[in-house]
Amino acid sequence: MPRIPTDILIAGQWRRGAGEPLESVDPATGQVLTTLTGASPEEVAEAAEAAALATADPAWRDLLPHQRARLLHRIAELTEEAADELSALQTADTGKTLTETRALALSAAGTFRFIAAALETAEETITPSRGEYVTMSVHEPLGVVGAINPWNSPVASDAQKIAPALAAGNAVLLKPAAWTPLVSLALGRLITQALEEFGLPTALLSVLPGSGRVVGDAVVRHPLVARIGFTGGTATGRSIAAVAADRLIPASLELGGKSPTIVRADADFEQALAGVMFGIFSSSGQSCIAGSRLFVAREIYDAFLTELVERVSKLRVGPGTDPGTQVGPLVHHLHRDSVAAYVDLARSEGARVLCGGAVPEGAEYQDGAYYLPTVLDGLPNTSRTCQEEIFGPVLVALPYDDEDDLVRQANDTAYGLACGIWTRDHRAAWRLARRIDAGTVWINTYKQFSASTPFSGWKASGLGTEKGREAIRAYQRQKSLYWGTSDAPLPWAN
Ligand code: NAD
Repeated sequence: MPRIPTDILIAGQWRRGAGEPLESVDPATGQVLTTLTGASPEEVAEAAEAAALATADPAWRDLLPHQRARLLHRIAELTEEAADELSALQTADTGKTLTETRALALSAAGTFRFIAAALETAEETITPSRGEYVTMSVHEPLGVVGAINPWNSPVASDAQKIAPALAAGNAVLLKPAAWTPLVSLALGRLITQALEEFGLPTALLSVLPGSGRVVGDAVVRHPLVARIGFTGGTATGRSIAAVAADRLIPASLELGGKSPTIVRADADFEQALAGVMFGIFSSSGQSCIAGSRLFVAREIYDAFLTELVERVSKLRVGPGTDPGTQVGPLVHHLHRDSVAAYVDLARSEGARVLCGGAVPEGAEYQDGAYYLPTVLDGLPNTSRTCQEEIFGPVLVALPYDDEDDLVRQANDTAYGLACGIWTRDHRAAWRLARRIDAGTVWINTYKQFSASTPFSGWKASGLGTEKGREAIRAYQRQKSLYWGTSDAPLPWAN
């Protein structure tokens, strides 16, 4: 068992928070891992004030980009070394399989490395003169930024915000989700260690667990917080955007999804079956990019669904610590109940439950937050089941007749996060990919990620972009300098 954090990180100090108690529960067993005390609004203010002082400390402020890059490389190294511990903690806290949480820890390390490399090569630009002056654009840190994350992939989401924010010269207040604070605190310990090794102010990072209503809100509203990087649900994103608009600070929003995954009649049947299952049932469907609406060409619909249902029924459900597990428990009993309520809603809307649709039976499942991988059909795309994000192992299948019918249905959703296309026809793949409203389209693959490829949601799936080299610029503000070079008298000179 990894070390379970018991304290929170406020401006470089580890201590019990003064806020609300937070229970971290292993969803595979229902066992309480630890009870933390979250941050109070006063502690958020304390962290913000210390962070602002830290950004003004010459030890940090005067670092050159390649020197900040060395810090990020060191954080990457420490994260890689601690990958097993981070993985075990995240599996204990979220229920995800160890294979997945190890990949997430390594992806966090990869993000720090990529951003470090991008920082080393980032250059300020001098614009060719259009008169008797030189102009230059420089990019300066924003100061203190807030990073607010959900519970589904904490360590990877944390790195996607902390790495570019530090690279850009800021300090960060990280607010993890109330259900899953442990891995963010463990990452906080590694980053604090790296800051200490470099003789830098440790107040550059605080990790402030607590509820969104109290701690998240205090972060968003604090006058010293100059930007919010948010990942989470669309309703929360809207309310944060409203506060950010009022305060006139930028906010990037990575929100929910109801992504279409499309199987054309010419698809590689085997590849499409595996890809569709992985796209929805990995992470037990608790993934913003989950391919939760399956569109299959009508001529192969019955054959594809028959084979799919047979394979889904055989997926191995169990604890994330068992190497044989393919589908772990959901993050929390309350969330499992919400998924079960959606399947009840689907039934009341007239859905056929082709498999799953229940909690698994057996003593080994009785204390965990399990739900069987579920395939539904028989609903129109306009039903609530097809329109609302369920965020669980629930796939709803729909047939389509031709490409126009497919595009109309696939795009008929408030969301626009991702899409999967399974086909052997390269022209059709290109055409479809361009017609689908989504920030990411996967062709003959799904859930593939690269730190260098920008990620953004369209429509109700978000605003702004994470990842890619441009991520650093999103945490800076640009300043233009004009430098007069002429000896000629200025207009009002005597
Ligand atoms: P959530 O919106 O309930 O919470 C996200 C975070 O916001 C948590 O830390 C929460 O405490 C905080 N929060 C809640 N209310 C707040 C407020 N008023 N002010 C400030 N902070 C507040 O989401 P969740 O249930 O934790 O996560 C699931 C959602 O996240 C799903 O909708 C999923 O699609 C989305 N998500 C999106 C992406 C993406 O990149 N687009 C990635 C992962 C998850």
